[in-house]
Amino acid sequence: MILVSPLCELEPLLADRICGEVARVFGYPTEIHPLLSDVEFALDEDRLQYHSTPILERLDQAAPANALKVLAVVAVDLFIPILTHVYGEAQLGGRACVVSAYRLKEGLPPARRPQDFQGRLVKEAVHELGHTFSLRHCKDPSCIMHYCRTVKDVDRKSMQLCRYCRVMLNDEIKRNSGIRELRN
Ligand SMILES: [Zn+2]
Ligand SMILES: [Zn+2]
Repeated sequence: MILVSPLCELEPLLADRICGEVARVFGYPTEIHPLLSDVEFALDEDRLQYHSTPILERLDQAAPANALKVLAVVAVDLFIPILTHVYGEAQLGGRACVVSAYRLKEGLPPARRPQDFQGRLVKEAVHELGHTFSLRHCKDPSCIMHYCRTVKDVDRKSMQLCRYCRVMLNDEIKRNSGIRELRN
């Protein structure tokens, strides 16, 4: 099971859309379940942004054993020390990832804001989960695993994995189910 954990006000329809896309791309049952009450522990008081790495650690600790992966959705501005900001972060091949809505509203005319913003958030959510399934950044600008520096890059990419990343994901899913069978 994959858990989607909103740590901000998230419209029910948007939460459902994220769950639906996650279930479609990764093929696991997906549920909404808030795990942390807030992310204030991750606030950097000099930068006034939130460091995403400690959020991943807390998520991993808080997630129940039957959660294969956990995705948090936050409204605050995230960073890692080497970058001014990030749209999200993931434990590569691990269990936890986080995506931020904060910068995904940039550059949208008000009329287009709700639908385009939602599409961006869903793409970046699937992208971060892709990393937890050991997928790395992809050179194909239309692949959902393409690294996006700006929201324009996010708008340009599709909701799909390219054929190469799809093969890598299927291998990883097979490997994961093999490990679970061994444990049982
Ligand atoms: Zn990435
Ligand atoms: Zn790709």
